[in-house]
Amino acid sequence: MALDQQLLEILACPDTHHAPLEHDAGAQTLTCTECGRIFEIRDDIPILLLDEARLPGSSSEEPAGSSSKDRPAARSAGPLAEDSVEKPADEETD
Ligand SMILES: [Zn+2]
Repeated sequence: MALDQQLLEILACPDTHHAPLEHDAGAQTLTCTECGRIFEIRDDIPILLLDEARLPGSSSEEPAGSSSKDRPAARSAGPLAEDSVEKPADEETD
């Protein structure tokens, strides 16, 4: 389902500039024409929250890895299987 065009016209970036948003029907996102933030549309509802917005160029997959993460150099012979396992850790069974 596409967003209502009239709705699109009144939507604006929640940032202080309140710039109009560009609808990407394929990606189901709204992109701010000013700051480039990308807002998702979930169930036909645009999530116009700065906290929820994706900044341009800061996706989870960054091309050409600059050394932003400390990785173990190589899995030589160590049990590194639980490398990326994060547990919620707040289960207090009384
Ligand atoms: Zn903006």
